Amino acid sequence: MKVTEHIKNGNGKTQFSFEILPPLKGENIHSIFNNIDPLMEFKPPYINVTYHREEYSFKELPNGLIERKVVRKRPGTVGICAAIQNRYHVDAVPHILCGGFTKEETENFLIDLQFLGIDNVMALRGDAVKSETYFTPEKNGHKYACDLVSQIKDMNNATYLDDELQNSSPTDFCVGVAGYPEKHMEAPSVESDIHFLKKKIKNGAKYVVTQMFFDNKKFFEFQKKCKDEGIDVPIIPGLKPIAVSKHLNLIPHRFKVDLPDSLVREVIKCKDNKQVREVGIEWCINQSKELMDAGVPFLHFYSMGKSDNIKQIASQIF
Ligand code: FAD
Repeated sequence: MKVTEHIKNGNGKTQFSFEILPPLKGENIHSIFNNIDPLMEFKPPYINVTYHREEYSFKELPNGLIERKVVRKRPGTVGICAAIQNRYHVDAVPHILCGGFTKEETENFLIDLQFLGIDNVMALRGDAVKSETYFTPEKNGHKYACDLVSQIKDMNNATYLDDELQNSSPTDFCVGVAGYPEKHMEAPSVESDIHFLKKKIKNGAKYVVTQMFFDNKKFFEFQKKCKDEGIDVPIIPGLKPIAVSKHLNLIPHRFKVDLPDSLVREVIKCKDNKQVREVGIEWCINQSKELMDAGVPFLHFYSMGKSDNIKQIASQIF
């Protein structure tokens, strides 16, 4: 079932969803199930699975030359989605990227998803690979998520890349896209970022999931700006509880979001990470309650492969 249908079926009640990462190469799928199992009691209608593109590693050889290796540390998005649908009978939402994909590869990826009975995808550009400063699309790939959304919409209208195909069947994907309450790191302004978010909706996206934020005011302002710009699709807030003191630097660095002073002060006061975890859980419960009161359709948790703190939060609010 489509995410938008799950929203409709919620009849205004806030529902629970979460995102998982495929395990590191070499780990087994049970590490994923062990994290999903404890969260199933909160009845998530869908689970997102991130996509991780290749990375380059550089190694100096004895002769002084540098060897470049291409590695994908977390493959398996499609397989995990199939396993989730089969084991839990809930919808899996695979993330699909512009980065690392030609349009042809995108088409084939989507055909695999359709054959597996996957009804939803989250369409993203992806970041620059670690060794590059700026995002570079593949030759004959997409530069922006809005173009990827267009390709999916074309397939939903039975238009494939090979225009000589006859009697082709349409796909029927429900497409989600990313939104940034504190703006995307490359966007010159919130207004410009929202302008391009609107383009993703115009090209066929049906709902938005936000980057994590720790100050609900930023989400409410973003929601209002989107509404003022005519964006009328559901906006789902993304939440992540702080779990270790290292997050104080890592989260702003990696995700380009701010942490409120009062949260930072609480974390600094903690004697150890056990206390930090409690502060993070408490903060996230308060954020969740306020967002629920404001009538958001889903609370979407970034589990990052750890379910215990998400379980504690969910058990207080669902
Ligand atoms: P876009 O919408 O393409 O925007 C990228 C930038 O370009 C923005 O600054 C935007 O304002 C600007 N822009 C957009 N369109 C245009 C245009 N036509 N002309 C000029 N400028 C334009 N990354 C992963 O690698 N794997 C994942 O699974 C993953 N999941 C994510 C899930 C969520 C909910 C979120 C919020 C992010 C996720 N990311 C993931 C990270 C995401 O790939 C990065 O944030 C990436 O840098 C931007 O992706 P986007 O889809 O928002 O890009």
